[in-house]
Amino acid sequence: MASWKNTERIGRMIGTAQSIVLPTRGCSYDQCYMCSYSRECPSVTPETIVETFAESFDPSVDKVKIFTSGSFLDTKELALDQMTRIADIVASSDVRELCVETRPEFVNEKTLAQIKDHLGGISLEVAIGLESANDDVLTYYINKGFTYADYESASTLIHALDCHVKTYLLLKPPFMTEYEAMVDVVDSAKAIEKITDVISINPVSIHKYTPLEQLWRKRSYRPPYLWSLVSCLNEVRKIDPQVMSHPVAVGKERGIHNCGSCEQEIMKQVEAYNLHGSAIDASCPCKDEWEHELTKVFS
Ligand code: SF4
Repeated sequence: MASWKNTERIGRMIGTAQSIVLPTRGCSYDQCYMCSYSRECPSVTPETIVETFAESFDPSVDKVKIFTSGSFLDTKELALDQMTRIADIVASSDVRELCVETRPEFVNEKTLAQIKDHLGGISLEVAIGLESANDDVLTYYINKGFTYADYESASTLIHALDCHVKTYLLLKPPFMTEYEAMVDVVDSAKAIEKITDVISINPVSIHKYTPLEQLWRKRSYRPPYLWSLVSCLNEVRKIDPQVMSHPVAVGKERGIHNCGSCEQEIMKQVEAYNLHGSAIDASCPCKDEWEHELTKVFS
């Protein structure tokens, strides 16, 4: 089971977070154009999933983040009893916050209240992959299968139960130009400023066997430039929620990239932004190419 640790901002403090990928049966929606997570999942969730979690979990970390390649709160992925047993394990540790991911339709009072009850005083953060606050983008560009209103209702319920909301925004869904993608992320971040506690900007990476991969192979799509992420992060630096980004496949053909020589240096500044909110100030000759890309009307 994949597990890794990193240093990150946890509330107002900096601490160690452990990420654990739980091998459940994966997303029961499984229709977003850019996603192939469930292809790597077993067909049924193993009965020993709680024990598997316990083996990987480090009780000395400040925060644990559970990824299931789907929704932790989906009872087709995990039985309620398995969710609460995992909460019990976390409750008996030094962890201050547990983060779980879910689609909004699985957020309900019964499930959340029980998990919270088993967590005792440990704070619960519920992360939702909203991707965009624009319903047209959700429907036609991503095939997300829920609306902005669904996200709003779920967030209201999460807050009513005294839990935190984390929201993922997707940088450059399919069918968008570089410029449109940046505008969509910035507009979405501002739209949810009063709704979410944390925003994580996730630049697209190309998963195998997806409609997005087909577009990419036909040269009708390029993953975002790292310059676009830098611009978005700087633009929303001062809004209320904590903003962060932990891009994957940086510098790779299938991931967010610039020219191949400046990514490492820029990522050091992105890490500093994540920890301290400091503005990113970078330069490279390839910035001209990105600026030219921004003038294109169609991708
Ligand atoms: S992006 Fe999330 S909701 Fe969409 S198919 Fe993948 S796991 Fe499911």
